[in-house]
Amino acid sequence: MPRSRGVPRFILILALGAFACGPAAAQRTQLKPGWNMFSPTQDMQVGKQAATDAERTLPMCNSPKADAYVTQLGKRLTDHLTTNGVQYPWEFHCVNDRSINAFALPGGYVFVNRGAIEAADNEAELAAVMAHELSHVALRHGTNQATKAQAAQAGVGIFGAIFGGSTGGALLTQLGSFTAGGVLLKYSRSAETQADVMGTQVLYDSGYDPRAMAQFFEKLEQESKGKNPPEFFSDHPSPDHRVERVNEEIEKLGGIPANARRDSPEFEAVKREVMKLPVAKKGVPRADASSGGKDGGPPPAPSEKMVDYEGSGVSLKYPENWKQFGSDENGATFGPQGGLVNDGSGHPALAYGLTIGSVMGKGVNAGELGSATQELISDLAKSNPNMKTTREAQNVKLNEKPALSTYLINDSPGGGKETDWIVTVARPDGMMYFVCTAPQGEFETYRKACGAVFDSVRFR
Ligand SMILES: [Zn+2]
Repeated sequence: MPRSRGVPRFILILALGAFACGPAAAQRTQLKPGWNMFSPTQDMQVGKQAATDAERTLPMCNSPKADAYVTQLGKRLTDHLTTNGVQYPWEFHCVNDRSINAFALPGGYVFVNRGAIEAADNEAELAAVMAHELSHVALRHGTNQATKAQAAQAGVGIFGAIFGGSTGGALLTQLGSFTAGGVLLKYSRSAETQADVMGTQVLYDSGYDPRAMAQFFEKLEQESKGKNPPEFFSDHPSPDHRVERVNEEIEKLGGIPANARRDSPEFEAVKREVMKLPVAKKGVPRADASSGGKDGGPPPAPSEKMVDYEGSGVSLKYPENWKQFGSDENGATFGPQGGLVNDGSGHPALAYGLTIGSVMGKGVNAGELGSATQELISDLAKSNPNMKTTREAQNVKLNEKPALSTYLINDSPGGGKETDWIVTVARPDGMMYFVCTAPQGEFETYRKACGAVFDSVRFR
């Protein structure tokens, strides 16, 4: 039962079509964004929403000097980036995270960890990481992969739930690493090669030593040989023949430029600056740490007093001391202060609370609920490799409607393991699901709170 939304085939054909250029430019590899169901404007909408959340949940450097520096360096690179006529808003942020990573959200929202600045031996290496990230934005790899994932789903899919709404942005980001991070920021090896090649061109055109592209990644790989690879590689798998492909592109560009820039006094000054920043703990939310647990401890227990929520097609009550992290026509996310955390690799994720979502498009009858639930769980498992079912689906009732209750174990974004309690219910226009999440040790408290929420559910 494929989703009704048609695949815009003409875009595929256009994307495959090569185009001719002048004699000088004809040498370099021509790269264009692939098949994409989303418009560049949607990239920006989804990216902006995710960036707002990232800023709220990630520990930021809060160093005007570091932010100004990455912005200036980023703009120098985007001046030489081919975007096929799209004007991206480009924002650059320094994140106070010592892991070696950087990420760029669709639409041009770029986050550079202090760890990446500290690991770079010169400005060209940092420029290489950023040029690689900018190329993912220009080639629209995030939503391209979401497009391919959606097309591959021959039935009810989580992507329908995420992207089925107007922009899908709110739910997309609230689900955090549980789903969205796994789709938008985990690239294929072929996307990696493209980002390397385009990044090499950008470095070359911006006057940097283009060899830095392969050098930096190779250095990281050598240093980590076998154990604790930098976080960067969890989202950006190393493509085969990386050095050879970069060198090949440098040849096409006409060789290493004579006065290629490798370092600057500004880079060295900013590197010293970020090295002095206090170290921020992982898994500790930034903006709401004050009223959450002290020093990253657990958030306050769910209040027994409940308040009302009116969603589309459903109403319920949730603990008074929970906030609504976001909602759209397909769902909402609730949790305590401190419930949304940085999972340590740049993705905001729900560690404590409840997510409501729906998989729309086709009615699910009670007999199909089991298979639709399995599909939802296997979709989630794709981006959560350590997720395992601990209790198979059992029949329950939700507001007198037949529902299924399934328990899973997964990595908690704050560290350790979490329990996920998923309740699915058939609706005339699809399937609605509720995911109750808390670290294993604290799950009993949340089972009670979520149980009270489930008892209050009323479908309209
Ligand atoms: Zn990459």
